[in-house]
Amino acid sequence: MAKVFELPALKYAFNALEPAIDARTMEIHHDKHHAAYVTNLNKALEAAPEWYERPIDEVLRRLNELPEGIRTAVRNNGGGHFNHTLFWDWMMPGEAKMPVGSVAKAMDATFGSFDSFVEKFSAAAMGRFGSGWAWLVLDNQKNLSVYSTANQDSPVTDGHAPLLGLDVWEHAYYLNYQNRRADYVKAFWSVVNWDVVEGLYLNSK
Ligand code: MN
Repeated sequence: MAKVFELPALKYAFNALEPAIDARTMEIHHDKHHAAYVTNLNKALEAAPEWYERPIDEVLRRLNELPEGIRTAVRNNGGGHFNHTLFWDWMMPGEAKMPVGSVAKAMDATFGSFDSFVEKFSAAAMGRFGSGWAWLVLDNQKNLSVYSTANQDSPVTDGHAPLLGLDVWEHAYYLNYQNRRADYVKAFWSVVNWDVVEGLYLNSK
């Protein structure tokens, strides 16, 4: 039997990101929402089990090679699996930090300043109507870019490398913030793991 996709363990406790993100939200988000994406991805790929062997980012880059009947399910649930796997690692307990190293320099060169980047990324997060994600990516021309996507659509499908992403589905914040998405977006900056962002930038550059 082919190896299937698995839910990765969180590397910190559910309550580690408080007060920015509460423990109950983290538990449901990881153990229920992310788990469901993995289950449904595996179920969809029963129709094309050879894809279990490929890394999930490769599956998402090659969506149009999948049987048409499962393409939407894999796009949604495979995207959900990939995006959330990164999302957990983009956050860490502790004090707010600034971006470091070469990604910090690139952000200054592209956006003018870190504050301008934060403004642009936050606007993308706030401007996404309904469910989706805000992104900082390295695009096909190796330029930094900020935008949002709908649902679980992932930048990798367009050949972009995600460097930082923020889940703006209501399930990511509703228990604690209700309709106050802006407060959630603001709190996110206090838990970003900039070392991970730098590592992804160096790998993708
Ligand atoms: Mn989510």
